[in-house]
Amino acid sequence: MSDVAIGLDVGGTKTLGVLVNREGVILDELKSSTPHDAQGGAGAATGKVLSEQVATFAQRHELDLATLPIGIGMPGMVRRDGRLAFAPNLQTVSGASFPELLKELLGSELVFMENDGNCAALGEYAWGAGRGVENFVMVTLGTGIGGGIIADGELVRGQSGFGGEIGHMAVEARGALCGCGGYGCWERYASGGGLARLTFEWAAEGRLPQLVELCGGAQNVRGEDVTRAANEGLVEALTLMNDVAWWLARGLANLVAILDTGHFVIGGGLSVVADLLLPSAREHLVDFTFGYDRRPPIVVVTSDLTVHAGALGAAKVAFDRQP
Ligand SMILES: [Zn+2]
Repeated sequence: MSDVAIGLDVGGTKTLGVLVNREGVILDELKSSTPHDAQGGAGAATGKVLSEQVATFAQRHELDLATLPIGIGMPGMVRRDGRLAFAPNLQTVSGASFPELLKELLGSELVFMENDGNCAALGEYAWGAGRGVENFVMVTLGTGIGGGIIADGELVRGQSGFGGEIGHMAVEARGALCGCGGYGCWERYASGGGLARLTFEWAAEGRLPQLVELCGGAQNVRGEDVTRAANEGLVEALTLMNDVAWWLARGLANLVAILDTGHFVIGGGLSVVADLLLPSAREHLVDFTFGYDRRPPIVVVTSDLTVHAGALGAAKVAFDRQP
């Protein structure tokens, strides 16, 4: 059994690789751009980037590729057999089998794939803000909402491996169109992308008059302008952030109703403004949650592992699934 594993977190723009020991300590780290190049078949360009990172780690640390466990976190629907069924934000890799590609390129035998949100949940469960918490949900607020569910101490993988796609839970059945083709998905309201969309709408509707003036037109107001202004105390920006928190709490309350979870770990890009979101989300949760006062207090905290959650979790997958 190897004392170290590699975790590779493939994002829409960047791929982050880490070399990790069994205590979850990052020994080395690499960052590359994620290619969006369809040449050579499904995932060939991405497979090349991954194999370069693995080869670099192996060379720097004199590791044996045949026995080195490797975990890959992918943004998309990852089948239990490790094949990627569908990656809406990374179309060129849909259908790819990275375990096969890495075996071909490097002779790697121990390569395992998992959805990136599920990886983040496993990372936080092992070494982060979900440590020792047998029932919690990881909620990654990026362009969309990713996540992973830990129930009774186990990752919920589901029938095919597609479990935990919490961002596509409908919270407004006739609401905004989502990238998945559905309407009113949670991620269109409570993510960084949701904030951007609401900002655009509110600016056009005249609900952000000071920001529109400051930015020189309704079309120029961005989500970042709203968070900056909210941090400075501008009331209209705080009102919009409270609306995002309201939507966030809507989805969290649904998850509580279904899973009876009492603990949420919030990560992703938007979690840098957790101070603007979480206090009011916690308040809304009191109103939205079925039987709130019959439950222990619901904990909503930010991620400990932040940008490394997915890569660390991918390494954990590699440690856990190697035969
Ligand atoms: Zn959707």
